[in-house]
Amino acid sequence: MGRTAEEANLAASQELAAILAYAPWAVFTEDLNGIIRSWSAGAEKIFGYAEQEIVGRPASVLVPPGSRKPALQQMDALGQKNEIATKWCARNGALLDVAVTSAPVCGESGEPEAICVIARNIIAPDHEKEARDLAFDLAPVMVRRLDGTILEWTAGMAALYGFSRAEALGKISHDLLQTQFGEPLASIEAQLIRRGSWTGELCHSHKDGQILWVVSSWTLHSHNPATLIEVNQDVTQRKHAEQEIRRLNAELEERVEKRTEELMETNRELEAFAFTISHDLRAPLRGMEGFGEALLEDYSAQIDSEGQDYIRRIVGSARRMDLLIQDLLAYSRLSRSDLRVQAVDLSSVASSAIEQVDSNGASIEVREPLGQVRGNRSILVQILANLISNALKFHTESAVPRVAVFSERRNGKVRLTVQDNGIGIDPKFHHQIFQVFSRLHSSAVYPGTGIGLAIVRKGIERLGGAYGVDSELGTGSRFWFELPEVGGNGLKKYGHSSG
Ligand code: ADP
Repeated sequence: MGRTAEEANLAASQELAAILAYAPWAVFTEDLNGIIRSWSAGAEKIFGYAEQEIVGRPASVLVPPGSRKPALQQMDALGQKNEIATKWCARNGALLDVAVTSAPVCGESGEPEAICVIARNIIAPDHEKEARDLAFDLAPVMVRRLDGTILEWTAGMAALYGFSRAEALGKISHDLLQTQFGEPLASIEAQLIRRGSWTGELCHSHKDGQILWVVSSWTLHSHNPATLIEVNQDVTQRKHAEQEIRRLNAELEERVEKRTEELMETNRELEAFAFTISHDLRAPLRGMEGFGEALLEDYSAQIDSEGQDYIRRIVGSARRMDLLIQDLLAYSRLSRSDLRVQAVDLSSVASSAIEQVDSNGASIEVREPLGQVRGNRSILVQILANLISNALKFHTESAVPRVAVFSERRNGKVRLTVQDNGIGIDPKFHHQIFQVFSRLHSSAVYPGTGIGLAIVRKGIERLGGAYGVDSELGTGSRFWFELPEVGGNGLKKYGHSSG
């Protein structure tokens, strides 16, 4: 027996109701004023409103508040449009990406009475999450239990160690990678538990047996059972470079030490040689000087005045050469002797130096106190004697030499200055005059060997001090040296000294 038209209608509408109940769409109708008239189960699922709560309310509640007006107009136009994508608002305020279609519902007259709206939720692909997942997989990361059991192993880890994810999962990481720890594992784990993280260098084995150095960062993820995330950064190349630098440094140090020893040996030989030669040269010179003088005394009757002048010049030259050799010996002795450095009183040094110098009645003013320095007494006496005798020597004939010796304190050092009112020195020669044999005048005008200031330089260098000169041509000179101060000795500070 066939179904009646009514039965067929009922069946069709039940079928439709079932479709509407299970379809993943929101289906609702609104009247021509936009008031919701019916609301499907799918609509409740998507938007969160129950049927009884939304029927009778304007459909515009689905439109985000900021864009309500244009969206309303948009809904009015829906009847004529195909599916459009837009954003609607769920009951909890969440914005949903939806694709909306609508169609007019016509009454018996054929005129539209309502609008039927179908909206489906479009799940926009989460690109950020995809990127995060990819980044995680590319990074050399493993998730593991505290006992080492590997729970997760990224592609980055596989690239670093050569073990695939399948080969690594479930293994004990320390066994798989043959980990060598820089400190006991128990102490690393204790730090991890205490602070929640640990970072340090580890030595691992690649699948192919090669050694890898990594900086490993462990972060405790959960406690029970203890699970951690381990991120490993390959530093093998840096490690090799460091080892190479250390090796080269050690090699260099060894070479420098060997060279220095060789140089010192050569220096010692040269100095011994110079000393012996200079020493031995003095004997024949003294012979020349002595016999020259004897010749003048005993044979002056037989030798005419020109001949006697020649002999005097020979004796004078022999004397100058003897002086030169004595100065050279003093200079080379400075490098040879082992220096005893101790507290030295500069006032006593100044008295001894002045005693050695032929002042010829000129005034030498010592402005006490001069202070105490760390130095070597006999070297300082020699230095000061050289500076004072130069200060007395380099004058024009008409000037009366006035020499002052004074000290001042500068940053834990004592600076001793010898000041004169002599001919002065052009600044372009200040550096040069401290070299051996460097003289700015002929010995006929100002006698000398050109070694005095070289002795000052060498002596102060050996004592670890500083030296220098302030002078201009015609303004006098101030030669100075600086050595570490010993004790507080009532010196004026730099800037307050009298000039
Ligand atoms: P020497 O005194 O035997 O010539 P030095 O080494 O002591 O040798 O001095 C080198 C040169 O520096 C001197 O020849 C002179 O030209 C210059 N000099 C040194 N002290 C003074 C000074 N107080 N005033 C001017 N010139 C000086």
